[in-house]
Amino acid sequence: MTYIKYILPLLTVFLSFYTSAYEARTDRTYEEVQSFLQSLEERFPENVELFELTESNSGTSIQGIIVGSGSTTHLLVSNHHGNEYGAAEVALGFAEQIAEYPIADVQVVIVPVLNTWGYDRRSRREKGALYTHDPNRDYPGPCKSNEYFQLNSTKALADLLSSEGIVSAVTLHTYWPAVVYPWGHSTQDKETGYEDIFIQLGEWSTIKSNYQVGNAGEVIYPADGTFEDYAFWQHGTWSLLFELGFSHSPSLADIEVMVQHNTYGLREFFEKAPREVAENHAFTGECDFRLRALDLEIE
Ligand SMILES: [Zn+2]
Repeated sequence: MTYIKYILPLLTVFLSFYTSAYEARTDRTYEEVQSFLQSLEERFPENVELFELTESNSGTSIQGIIVGSGSTTHLLVSNHHGNEYGAAEVALGFAEQIAEYPIADVQVVIVPVLNTWGYDRRSRREKGALYTHDPNRDYPGPCKSNEYFQLNSTKALADLLSSEGIVSAVTLHTYWPAVVYPWGHSTQDKETGYEDIFIQLGEWSTIKSNYQVGNAGEVIYPADGTFEDYAFWQHGTWSLLFELGFSHSPSLADIEVMVQHNTYGLREFFEKAPREVAENHAFTGECDFRLRALDLEIE
């Protein structure tokens, strides 16, 4: 009898309505990511449109897809950090599922690998004009007013938030089983005033994964110049950061579980996320620059 308690939850996952035959990998190259996106457009031409976000500083075409159609546009972006290949697999697994089963009256823009240079080198950082930069410290923020948009990739993603009118966004990373929400920058004043909504969104997103849900600065550590804070601060975009799994070097079996659990959670998020951006998204607290010492730059 005891095995039933293990088998039942597994059956629930595998019998999820929106099944997908996604084949995860641990050794995918960016060229193969591009081929995969193109194959989705070919298989589901009525639902999928391939687009170029921009050309990276190293000359690669950063590509994404727009899936579905409707009055609300959401965003899924992965791999600000190139080494986090497990996160890209979750983005691609979700892309395949939603390409086959789009969400009614919602379009989702998916950029599975933002840092293409780092992805092919399994490097956290991305090469800019002269130096490498941490892409998820390359946005302006309430406590960061210099040295931002040093990468074509981050600037183009920021521009897309306004050009596409992105309402809700998820950014994928490895490795810590958590889903977190703003504010995450260097401040003691971590509340946006929308904690109830963010926690609800986080709970929907973790319905299968059971990841921890909480404030970014508290669950992980404070960090200035991140995409997730920028999106909410500038536009009121409901932005969550998924820290996936337990490792920066997940095995194929680890990735398959991550894809199963988080594909389900992402669909919940994009189906239920608000259809209007937050009204009050200015940061009215104070920066505490002493907290910068806590940014470990490993997430
Ligand atoms: Zn990361």
